[in-house]
Amino acid sequence: MTEIRTRIAPSPTGDPHVGTAYIALFNRCFAHSKGGKFVLRIEDTDQLRSTERSEQDILDSLRWLGLHWDEGPDTGGDAGPYRQSERSEIYETHIQDLLKKGHAFRCFCSPERLDRLRKQQMAEKQPLGYDGHCLSLTEDEVEKKLAAGENHVIRMKKPESGECQFNDLLRGEVSIAWSQIDMQVLIKSDGLPTYHFANVVDDHLMGITHVIRGEEWINSVPKHVLLYEYFGWQAPVFCHMPLLRNPDKSKLSKRKNPTSINYYQDMGYLPEAVVNYLGMMGWSMPDGREVFDVEAMTKAFDIERVSLGGPIFDIQKLDWLNGVYLRESLSEEQFAERFIAWATADEKLQRVIPLIQQRVEKFSDVVELAGLFISGVIELSPEKFKHKVLSQEQIVKILQFALWRLESLTAWDRDAIESCLQDLAQTMEIKIRDFLFPLFIAISGKAVSTSVIDSIAILGLDVSRARIRHGIDVLGGVSKKAAKRLENEYRAFG
Ligand code: GLU
Repeated sequence: MTEIRTRIAPSPTGDPHVGTAYIALFNRCFAHSKGGKFVLRIEDTDQLRSTERSEQDILDSLRWLGLHWDEGPDTGGDAGPYRQSERSEIYETHIQDLLKKGHAFRCFCSPERLDRLRKQQMAEKQPLGYDGHCLSLTEDEVEKKLAAGENHVIRMKKPESGECQFNDLLRGEVSIAWSQIDMQVLIKSDGLPTYHFANVVDDHLMGITHVIRGEEWINSVPKHVLLYEYFGWQAPVFCHMPLLRNPDKSKLSKRKNPTSINYYQDMGYLPEAVVNYLGMMGWSMPDGREVFDVEAMTKAFDIERVSLGGPIFDIQKLDWLNGVYLRESLSEEQFAERFIAWATADEKLQRVIPLIQQRVEKFSDVVELAGLFISGVIELSPEKFKHKVLSQEQIVKILQFALWRLESLTAWDRDAIESCLQDLAQTMEIKIRDFLFPLFIAISGKAVSTSVIDSIAILGLDVSRARIRHGIDVLGGVSKKAAKRLENEYRAFG
């Protein structure tokens, strides 16, 4: 019997997302419930957006949650390398194969032509996509262009009419018309593969038998099925999981809910409670029990029990579950141990001491100053934000703009934070002292406290974001309309 193999294939382009952990959990349970293997592959073909830090964060967070993988870039395995940036030669051989068989073609169309085409298709309300212009090039013409070093991409051919039919484990038969499908670029002009090409080649070569991933990929399946056909390979079983949703049913987004696993770690949730909660997203234990661990979930796992209604990721419910774990599954000793480990993680204490040592007269003064580093969201009121020169409107603007600046930082350290905030204060023509006031309040609840820049650096983006957001909310929030206005003004700063 073939071994069941599943994978999680994150792109290291941002924070470790709870959605990645959710999909990882279901892949792991599925493979392990059948005695199979769970693989981790890093999809870093987008060289501009992929970062080492993001990859490290994703691996660390999945490990923190206890979602270990059997094969991956760090653990190794027989099907490596497990990082797409190290597999260029493999993609090269495979694209040559498709070109030779006539299933792919070189396209020399300029971005300007493609842009014109797009606009025209939009004006004529036609489906968007490549029109096949370069399909008519003769071999000689292609050779000449290649010899002249013309920029080009490689696209896949596709049927003109009819429908692609495939099976989804949760949805049964799905059909999508070929007219909806583009002649997908497989190799970009920089010679790197696109997601679709690398993903199919790797899933096949890594022996993946079941592709379990988020619903947002379902429309890509026809391209993938066609690639399997072109190569003469058997396609894996596809299973598209329902997307996590905000309590208002919209797709889970960091605008409305913290989506980074770092946030849950920094806020002091227990990893076992977070994983347990993710296991309740669209799935339930056959006996209805709400408190369970990955092993119990694996034992009872049956993918058919996944329900397609969009599961709601509700922090209040997670808080409740985390409370149950804290009260019922930890002894007093364990509680103390785990609390101390959390409060002192990442050398937090060592980083806080230099900020407070010069400001205290006795140890009993420490908690007052250090408390903000082990708190969640700070209790605030509009009165706290009252300022002698800044209006409430200006304060909201400072908080929102500062947050956007912080979110765009690529390096997270005090100097980077300081210079980005100073720069913003200057652009907004507000004295730095006044500018920092609302941030002091949002971050520490007080107008005078340890340096707010150091505090933001130590707290990290996720907790800082939650506090700044809370500050904005306490001041009445930002309506959709106001947000648009603020965004335009912010963009004008460049
Ligand atoms: N790299 C893709 C992502 O970031 C993987 C999608 C898939 O599982 O095929 O979600």
